Amino acid sequence: MIQKTLSIVKPDGVKRNLIGKIVAMFEDKGLKIAAMEMKLLSKKEAEGFYVVHKERPFFGELVDYMTSGPVVVMALEGENAVLRNREIMGATDPAKADAGTIRKLYGVNVGENTVHGSDSPENAAIEIGYFFPSSKIF
Ligand code: ADP
Ligand code: MG
Repeated sequence: MIQKTLSIVKPDGVKRNLIGKIVAMFEDKGLKIAAMEMKLLSKKEAEGFYVVHKERPFFGELVDYMTSGPVVVMALEGENAVLRNREIMGATDPAKADAGTIRKLYGVNVGENTVHGSDSPENAAIEIGYFFPSSKIF
C-alpha cells in the first residue's frame, strides 16, 4: 500500500550537516520526497506538533530543543511508508536502536535523536497537514 508519512530532520541533524545523508537513506530505501521545507519552528508550532506529549515530563525540554535551530520537514511517500520510515529511523533511544538505523548512526541521546517520524497512518495525515498545504505535496 502506497502511503505518505511525515519526517523531520531535527535541529541536531541540521547542525551536524546530516541533511544529505538522511535524505539519501530515505531515497536509497525507496521512499520518495513528496514535500520538503527547511524552517525554524516557533514555540507555538513545536508545542502544537507535540501536543500529545504535553503531560510528559520532557515536554518543555522537547519544545526548547525542537526550536533551538532550523529543522527540515518532509513528506515521504512509498510502500508502507509509515512503518518503513520507523524502521529506517530506529528506536526512540539511539542506544536501543538497531544497527544501521539513522538514530543508531547519528542520534545523540533519547531527546536529541536526529529524526522524527509519524507513528501511524492517521497521525501521518494529521502531521503532514500540520506543515504542508496539499498544493505543496508532489
Ligand atoms: P518517537 O520520536 O520515536 O516517536 P516519542 O513519540 O515517544 O518517540 O517521543 C517524541 C520525542 O520526544 C522523541 O523523539 C524525543 O525527541 C523526545 N523524547 C522521548 N522520550 C524522551 C525522554 N525520556 N527524555 C527526553 N526526550 C524524550
Ligand atoms: Mg512519536
